[in-house]
Amino acid sequence: MNEVDKKLESIHEKILDILPENLSISSVNYEGPELVVYTSDPKKFAESGDIVRTLASSLQKRITIRPDLDSLLPPKQTEEIIHKIIPKEANVTSLDFHEDTGEVLIEATRPGMVIGRHGSTMREITQQIGWTPDVVRAPPIDSTVVSNVRNFLKQQRKERRSILERVGRHIHRPKKSSDKWVRLTTLGCCQEVGRASFLLSTPETRILIDCGDKPGSEDEFPYLHVSEALGAGANSIDAVVLTHAHLDHSAFIPLLFRYGYDGPIYATEPTRDLMGLLTLDYLDVAAQEGRTPPYTSEMIREAIKHTITIPYGSVTDIAPDIKVTLHNAGHILGSSIAHFHIGDGLYNICFSGDIHYRGTRLFNGAVTDFPRVETLILESTYGGRNDYQTDQKQAEQNLIEIVKTTTENGGKVIIPAFAVGRSQEIMLVLEEAMRTGELSELPVYLDGMIWEATAIHAAYPEYLRDDLRKRIFYDDENPFLAPQFHHIERGDEQRQEIKDEGPCVIISTSGMITGGPIMSWLEHLGNDPDNTLIFVGYQAHGTLGRRIQSGWEEIPVSGSGGRTRTLKLKFNVETVDGFSGHADRQGLLDFVKSMHPRPEKVLCVHGDERSTRDLSSALYRQFNIRTFAPKNLETFRFV
Ligand SMILES: [Zn+2]
Repeated sequence: MNEVDKKLESIHEKILDILPENLSISSVNYEGPELVVYTSDPKKFAESGDIVRTLASSLQKRITIRPDLDSLLPPKQTEEIIHKIIPKEANVTSLDFHEDTGEVLIEATRPGMVIGRHGSTMREITQQIGWTPDVVRAPPIDSTVVSNVRNFLKQQRKERRSILERVGRHIHRPKKSSDKWVRLTTLGCCQEVGRASFLLSTPETRILIDCGDKPGSEDEFPYLHVSEALGAGANSIDAVVLTHAHLDHSAFIPLLFRYGYDGPIYATEPTRDLMGLLTLDYLDVAAQEGRTPPYTSEMIREAIKHTITIPYGSVTDIAPDIKVTLHNAGHILGSSIAHFHIGDGLYNICFSGDIHYRGTRLFNGAVTDFPRVETLILESTYGGRNDYQTDQKQAEQNLIEIVKTTTENGGKVIIPAFAVGRSQEIMLVLEEAMRTGELSELPVYLDGMIWEATAIHAAYPEYLRDDLRKRIFYDDENPFLAPQFHHIERGDEQRQEIKDEGPCVIISTSGMITGGPIMSWLEHLGNDPDNTLIFVGYQAHGTLGRRIQSGWEEIPVSGSGGRTRTLKLKFNVETVDGFSGHADRQGLLDFVKSMHPRPEKVLCVHGDERSTRDLSSALYRQFNIRTFAPKNLETFRFV
């Protein structure tokens, strides 16, 4: 019997000691970070109220109770009972029985009503039928990505379960060494923005945190190949943790699987789905630009299959000596600050990922309370001494004013925006202004990936700002479903029709005018001086967006037959600063100031050389903590 089996056997005995006499279990097993406990008495377990919570806290594990399969009624007989127990208002949209595990997946519009107070409805279901219920939210707006990911994982259940069992045994492998040290190697995004990647290592474990690209750069990849990260083969990494889905953090996660990585990726559920959306788009863009991408969509599917999702705040074992907890970072949907607890109190490190300190219309501000933190790895995008942003309220006011003036004069407004995040924020600003009468009702057209990205946001209300979540959750007031929003579904034919209509607002990708449907809008609306184009996001050097922003009135566009022609732009061009998914300089300082506890060391990364150095010295002066602005490929030993 190997060590892991011995450990499982001792857990089995410990559980029997804790359980009351009348409850019995047949076996225990690991599936990923969870402990699965099998019993022939699932109904009695459900009757014993809090017993699962007692087990979880005394074993310090996430626990799932599953029925022995021979004790179960056939699905047909139980469906009716389930529908009787769950209140009608929960609006169950599907029941999916998994006969290999004894679980029934319930999809409902209001999952809270399926769960019941403290899980009471779920327990009642098990009490009556023995099956273990699991509940997911039916997306209020149809999302192709969410349903594709869910269907794919359904098809892959068998393989997925064997991955989870393998990962579970690996997490709980015996410790090999009594040596104690903690090191971090920077593989990218140091004194630069892009290609985020870090390797955290101990005598037992090697964890890769993020693996992103650096768009528009020759050095697109993090230092995976020259560093020890992949030097010993991708399987020398035990786990990957992904802070959020932006490509400068996630683009090369699928590439790891081409290198032979076969382990888990830990991320929040929306990060998994957005990673799918954005990496597929990365492949599309590469194809359009005639580049050969380093991996195929098959590798994206592998990445999704290997992703173990964890909700915010859930302390999760990912190695014999490391627990990770993801906390809200306020930056994009599902974005997280990753907190690593290493070696039973030996050391604690926080990776900020990208953060927004104060919060936005979409998200609460970043979490600042942690049980312990010795070192913080902090983003510095706007860490430079002059990087102060316009107040968001002022930005919103400016946007509304420009929309008002343009449309009252009979013009149309075009807003190029990134599909994930910024678009939804602009939608919320316009929706509120129209609801309160500040703006008169206007049609708002959403073009490109924006509708899909919005649907993914609506599918995960628990990751949104409190008041927005409530509107989607309880009040059937989902602002994203407001009647003024229209999805462009019929391509250029529909754009032509809109061109001939009255005043309206168009939000379209891409945000930096580097391609996508925004190009058609320039053609349709660019030569009318009554119209206005409003920039609401950063325009990188070398992009068409930057050129238009700096006053170009003639731009080259590709015409028929691959020839380039010149397009004359006569519309007004405005820039509204102040919308950002990132904390500005003050926000970054305030974040560290309000961190509890305050870290002993801060590594300033994810900013250009000036920003990381400026932030590093400001933090040192204000808080008297040791700070660094490391270069790529530096290694820090913390213990
Ligand atoms: Zn980001």
